[in-house]
Amino acid sequence: MFDKLYQEGAALIDSPGEVKDSAFESDNAAGMAFGMTRWPLPEPMRMALEQAACAGDAGEVPIGAVVVKDGVVIAAAHNQPRALCDPTAHAEVLAIRAAAAALGQERLEGCDLWVSLEPCAMCAGAIVHARIARVYYAATDAKGGAVEHGARVFDQPTCLHRPEVYSGMGEAEAADLLRGFFRERR
Ligand SMILES: [Zn+2]
Repeated sequence: MFDKLYQEGAALIDSPGEVKDSAFESDNAAGMAFGMTRWPLPEPMRMALEQAACAGDAGEVPIGAVVVKDGVVIAAAHNQPRALCDPTAHAEVLAIRAAAAALGQERLEGCDLWVSLEPCAMCAGAIVHARIARVYYAATDAKGGAVEHGARVFDQPTCLHRPEVYSGMGEAEAADLLRGFFRERR
């Protein structure tokens, strides 16, 4: 079953290339001009948005995620619960599984997750279990999000691991994809 997931759900990056844009390095992240729409998006967020668009084209809610380790994208995935008949096949879960498989380990210490939408409670839980170091998400999700909304998973005293969290880069693009998707289906 997992083989199927990896083949169809999460596109493993066969030949990871160096991410050229170093602007997303964690050292600089806090100082980046979030909210400046003309600021070039860091490459991983651009890739997460491309994944989101792929999901939308396939009739899935357009959400995409990538995992980066040492400046290299090691996994990319998009939302696929319909195609995989799997309610847990969110972009983050698929990207985390693919990254763990690529590294051959159960934890993703030192890895960053870039995702187009604020993670839900399930995905926030997966991020904790994976020991993801930093989470970058584009748009917020007041209804389904569980980072700065709802369960606020990382803020709970029982949370075993708290990643650094940065939000807002690519927000407009991510929200546009979601709005367009749901508008078409009304
Ligand atoms: Zn989720």
